[in-house]
Amino acid sequence: MAPPVQQRGSVLLFEVRTPIRTEPFGERYHLVPGKELGRGKFSVVKKYVERCSGKEYAAKFMRKRRKGQDCRLEIIHEIAMLELASACPWVIDLHEVYETHKEMVLVMEYAAGGEIFDQCVAEHDESFTQDDVKRLMRQILEGVAFLHSINVVHLDLKPQNILLTSTSPLGDIKIVDFGLSRMVKGDQELREIMGTPEYVAPEVLDFEPISTATDMWSIGVLAYVMLTGTSPFLGNDKQETFLNISQINVSYTEDELEGLEKSAIRFMKSLLVKEPQARATAYECLHHPWLQQGVNRGGLEEQDQEDQKGQVTEGLIVVAAYSLGQC
Ligand code: ADP
Ligand code: MG
Repeated sequence: MAPPVQQRGSVLLFEVRTPIRTEPFGERYHLVPGKELGRGKFSVVKKYVERCSGKEYAAKFMRKRRKGQDCRLEIIHEIAMLELASACPWVIDLHEVYETHKEMVLVMEYAAGGEIFDQCVAEHDESFTQDDVKRLMRQILEGVAFLHSINVVHLDLKPQNILLTSTSPLGDIKIVDFGLSRMVKGDQELREIMGTPEYVAPEVLDFEPISTATDMWSIGVLAYVMLTGTSPFLGNDKQETFLNISQINVSYTEDELEGLEKSAIRFMKSLLVKEPQARATAYECLHHPWLQQGVNRGGLEEQDQEDQKGQVTEGLIVVAAYSLGQC
C-alpha cells in the first residue's frame, strides 16, 4: 500500500498502482455529444466511449493548478482512495488515468442514472418511495461501512455524490468524489476539512477532530433529504446554515415528515446528534429496525433475509480486510 505522507495537516496517499497514461486521451476515447455529466469548481465530467471496446465511461477532467497552487498530489490521493475502495461494489470503478500538461483525467465507470439528488427534488410521482430509500440507504451504508472498515472517511457524502446505475427501473447506487476523503488512524488527528455547508457535521464547524462519525452525520442529513426532499439545516445563507447545524436546529414535525414510519425518524435522530461518539455507526445503522422491514428481497422468509443481510455486510468487510492484507 502507498506510504502515507503528512501534508497540510492531513494524511494523503501519494502512490497509485493505476498507470498514468500520457498518450493523447482523444485517440483512445471519443466524446459523446450532449450535456456534460457534471461540473465542480475545478473539474468537469463528460461522457466518452472507449474506441477499442465501444464501452461508455465518465471522464473527470481535473485542473492540476488551482488558485495558483499545484494540486497534482491531491488528485493522486483521490486516485489512491478510489483504488483502496475498488473491492466495494457500491463505489465507482476507476478504469484508467491520463495526464496532460494542465489536467489529469480520471476515466470511471459510467453511472447512467445520474445523481440521486435529481430524484430527491423531483415531483412526487418521480421521487423515491420509502421502500426505494430503504434499499438505496442499505447500499450507501454498506459502502460507508466498507470505507470505515479500511479507515477511510469520505467527508463529502451528499446526494450529488451518490449516483445511480439507472433510473427506470431504479438501479443501484455508486459513491463518487473522493476529493475530500482521508485516511483516519487512531494516533493522528484530522481537523478542518470542509465539505458542503448543508451536510457538514458540527465538529467540522468547531474545528474538533474528524472521524468516521463525521460521515455518519452526513448520512443522517442524506436520509432526511431522500425521505422528504428538503434539506434539514439549510438556511438563507451560509451563516444561518452553520448556526442551524451547531444548534442542531432540525424539526421532526414538519409537513414533509408526515406519513413517514416512526422508525425512519428514530433512524435520523440516531445520527443527527452533536456528540460524534453518540452517533450510530454504519454497521449499527444496517441493523436499525427501519432498515429491517419493507424491503423487497425476492420473497425470502424473514430469518433468511436476516441471515442474508448479515452475510452481505460481513462479506464486504472481509473483502476490505483482504484488500489491505489483514487476513
Ligand atoms: P467534484 O469533485 O467536482 O464535485 P464529482 O466527482 O463529484 O466532482 O463529479 C461531479 C459530478 O459529475 C457528479 O456530481 C455527477 O453528477 C457527475 N459524475 C461524476 N462521476 C460520474 C460517473 N462516474 N458517471 C456519471 N456521472 C458522474
Ligand atoms: Mg462532487
